[in-house]
Amino acid sequence: MRYFPLFADLAEADVLVVGGGEAAARKVRLLCKTSARITVVAETVTEELRGLAERGAIALLPRAFLARDLHGQRLVYAATGDGVCDGAVSRAAKARGIPVNVIDAPALSTFITPAIVDRDPVTVAIGTEGAAPVLARQIKALLETLLPANLGVLASRARDLRDGVARAVVDPRRRRRFWERLLRGPFRRAVLSGAQNEAGRILAAELEDEHRLTHATPTGRVTLIGCGPGDPDLLTLRAVQRLQEADVLVVDRLVDAKILEYARRDAERVFVGKTPRGPATSQAEINRLIVREAQAGKAVARLKGGDPLIFGRAAEEMSACQAADIPVEVVPGVTAAQACAARVGLPLTLRERIRQFAVVTGASAEGEPDFEWPALLAKDAAFAIYMGIGNAPLLRRQLLSAGADAATPVVIVENGTREGERTIATTLADLTDAVAQHAVVSPAVIFVGLDWAEAGLCRPAFVIVHRRARRPAIERPLERRAANTEALT
Ligand code: SAH
Repeated sequence: MRYFPLFADLAEADVLVVGGGEAAARKVRLLCKTSARITVVAETVTEELRGLAERGAIALLPRAFLARDLHGQRLVYAATGDGVCDGAVSRAAKARGIPVNVIDAPALSTFITPAIVDRDPVTVAIGTEGAAPVLARQIKALLETLLPANLGVLASRARDLRDGVARAVVDPRRRRRFWERLLRGPFRRAVLSGAQNEAGRILAAELEDEHRLTHATPTGRVTLIGCGPGDPDLLTLRAVQRLQEADVLVVDRLVDAKILEYARRDAERVFVGKTPRGPATSQAEINRLIVREAQAGKAVARLKGGDPLIFGRAAEEMSACQAADIPVEVVPGVTAAQACAARVGLPLTLRERIRQFAVVTGASAEGEPDFEWPALLAKDAAFAIYMGIGNAPLLRRQLLSAGADAATPVVIVENGTREGERTIATTLADLTDAVAQHAVVSPAVIFVGLDWAEAGLCRPAFVIVHRRARRPAIERPLERRAANTEALT
């Protein structure tokens, strides 16, 4: 981030605009939304600016810019369109330490003006550091449609209530939750639809409820949040809501750092990452931690990769909460197999052909994984192996000795939806070789029994096809290659 966003207080401040053309008029229009005292210096001005001057909305100095015009100014805009003149204004302002913006010349400016969505007193500012103004406008258009036109009324009402609510709900955490309820629920709807009396009644009832609750014992809660495979776009709306409500975040290793951006900045963060075979906070400690935090009255968000109920040890955490009488909620997430299959366009079931799809773990707490492989190898079945990369050679051996066809298609998706995503298509016979040759690391999902051709689909071009070079029928040592990545045809 090169440009740091902030909002300047221009109440009764002096602001200078140098230039009298359309570009200057646009800035003046924006500035007129504030109560700044605006002075325009320009030899000629547009009709609009002249009109504003005649009505006393701005002061007009009908002459060229002089350095003394800068005296007492809080901000300066240069919009003459003349490089020499704009440059002189920029230099003079910089010399006096006054923030200056030269229209369309970031190099001469010390600040830039963002695109804004105006719901006074709510203002959303959007900037791309000049990288893509069109993108900023698109985001603005999107927000314009998302935010109710009279959102400002709600904010103003909240402002009027602020002190009263602070006196009535003293505990800051409770107060924040009170505001969250108020600004999302029926109170918000009543205010936005103009039903002020109704809003007043709802507020009184909410305050009464809050009073009752404050005198009861504090109840925290735990939410197990499925954060999906990595890309924050795959978070559910509920996951985002719960993230924003949380006082404490208890975070797994597979939760992408970008997801944390959706939580409140002041929420405590506890990282309990488990790296495969590496150091970790024990499950028992995690259970104790979430219970302790909830018992202190906090909203605990337990962030898990993918879906919490799939290989997420949710049962232990839920049962610890239940034993301590703490309400626990599960927010589902997109599990790795779904996300990875979607990334590579691979259907997990196929009409008449794949009628069962299973997810299995390739790791086991008690040493080697040991499956009823024949059931998974039924003709109409396919499956995804989670946590299987470290055990790939063993899994391959077990599958082949359980009677799996060596030519069974295998697709490995590593880092699905995250940085460093790779997909490798191979066969069961070549699984170990593919993992070794391409140095595949966790997290990765291994799909067994799924193939694009079988579904009548094209394999995406980005998929790496791995086939181990077979020993030629007649040994020709000079031409022998260890492995290649040519097409599987
Ligand atoms: N609860 C998670 C699974 C946790 S077990 C879920 O529902 O997805 C961890 C395993 O999930 C990893 O070893 C890997 O097999 C898989 N996994 C998680 N995130 C992944 C990703 N972004 N890409 C590929 N596999 C992933």
